[in-house]
Amino acid sequence: MDGGTKVLVDSPAHDQPAPSLYDIAVEQFNTAADVIGLDDDMRRILSVCKRELAVNFPVEMDDGTVQVFTGYRVQHSIAPGPSKGGIRYHPDVTLDEVKALAMWMTWKCAVVGLPYGGAKGGVRVNPKVLSQNELQNLTRRYTTEISMLLGPHSDIPAPDVNTNPQVMAWILDTYSMHHGGVAVPAVVTGKPLLLGGSAGRLEATGRGCVFAIEQACRTYDIDLPSQRVVVQGFGNVGSTVAQILHSIGCRVIGVSDSHGGIYNPNGLDIPSVLAYKRQMQTIVDFPEAENVTNEELLELDCDILVPAALEEQITEENAPRIKARLIAEAANGPTTPDADRILYDRGIIVLPDIYANAGGVTVSYFEWVQALQSFSWTEDEVNSRLQRIMIESFMAIHEAAEQYHVPLRTAALVRAIQRVAEFTRVRGIYP
Ligand code: GLU
Repeated sequence: MDGGTKVLVDSPAHDQPAPSLYDIAVEQFNTAADVIGLDDDMRRILSVCKRELAVNFPVEMDDGTVQVFTGYRVQHSIAPGPSKGGIRYHPDVTLDEVKALAMWMTWKCAVVGLPYGGAKGGVRVNPKVLSQNELQNLTRRYTTEISMLLGPHSDIPAPDVNTNPQVMAWILDTYSMHHGGVAVPAVVTGKPLLLGGSAGRLEATGRGCVFAIEQACRTYDIDLPSQRVVVQGFGNVGSTVAQILHSIGCRVIGVSDSHGGIYNPNGLDIPSVLAYKRQMQTIVDFPEAENVTNEELLELDCDILVPAALEEQITEENAPRIKARLIAEAANGPTTPDADRILYDRGIIVLPDIYANAGGVTVSYFEWVQALQSFSWTEDEVNSRLQRIMIESFMAIHEAAEQYHVPLRTAALVRAIQRVAEFTRVRGIYP
C-alpha cells in the first residue's frame, strides 16, 4: 500500500447548511424538469417567483401601544391566469417560506387544471394572542399594504394556517372600500356564505384529501374502511379528514394539534374529540386516549398517515421509522426530498401535497366562478364536481408515474410543469 496516498473525503452532509424551504421547492421542480428534459430557458423562468412584496406596517393594539408587523405577498406565476393562494398568520412566517408556498400553489392549480397561477401571503404574527379587534386591524392594514397586487382578476387570497372566513370577510371589505364600497366578492375565497362564499368550501381541503385517499385505495387495492389512520394537525383540514374517515368506518387511532397528540389503538371517537377540543382548546389529555408527542405520533403503527399541520415534518431522520403504507399530504411541504427518497425506497405511497390538498383551491375556484356570476351552487354540486376533479387528476398523475417510473410527487410536478410551461411558451416573451 502506498502510505503517501491522500484520500479525499467529501465533507459530511451535516456540515452543509440545511436547505431552505424554497431550495426544497426548487429541488423538487428540477427533479421533475430533468424527467421531461425541460429546456434551460423555461427552467430559468419557472424557478423564480414573478413578484415578491415585503411590507412592514404598524398596528395599534388595544392598550394603545403600536406594534410593527412584517408581511409578504408573493406571486410565483401569472402565466395561466390570476394568481391564487392563501394567507397565513404564524410567528415563523418568512419570505423564503412564502416563496416556496407560492411556487407550490402554481403547481397545485395546474395539477387540477385550474386557470390560475400561484401566490401566497403571510404575516409574521402569533394571532392566538391578539384580540378580535387587533386581528381585524392587522388584517385590514396588511390588506391595504398588499392591495396593489390584489384583485378579482389579478390575485385572489384565501384562508391558510390560522386564517378563516372572518379574516377573508375583512379582506373583502377592505379591498371593496378602496374600490367604492360595493362588495367585490370575487377578490377573495373562503369567505362566509353570507358574503358570497361557497357551500362546501370550509371542508373542501379535507374532503378533497379524502377523495384522493379513496381513489388511491381503489387503484392500489386497499380496503379503506379497515385502515388505521393517524392525522397530524387538528385544525380545519386535519379535523375534517379525521371526521370523514371516522364516519366511513376507518379507525382513527391518533391525532395531534400544536400542543401534542393523543393515541388509542382501538380508535378515537372523533366527534367526542372535536367536542373536547371545542371546550378545552386542545386535544391533549382527552380522557379515552394516552398522550403522545407530535414526533411519536408520526411513527405510530398505522396504515394511513395524514400530515395536516406544517412543513418539514417527515425528514430523513424519522422517515425510516414511519410505519404507514400510504401518506396523504394534507399540509403543504410536510415531507423533505431526503425523506421522499427513503419513503419511495421503502415502497410507501405518498400522495403529494400539490395533489392531496388541492381540494381547497379547487372549491375556491368554484367559489370565484359563482361570485363572478352572482349565482350559487348546491353543496352536492360542489362536492361532486370536486370528486370528479380529484379522481381525474389522480388518474393523470398515476399514468405519468407509470410512464416515467417516478414517485407520484414527481409525476404530479411533471404534469404541472408541462402545463405551466405551455402557457408561458404560447404567450411568448414581451416585448
Ligand atoms: N391555502 C390553501 C392552499 O394552500 C387554499 C388556497 C386557495 O384556496 O386559494 O391550498
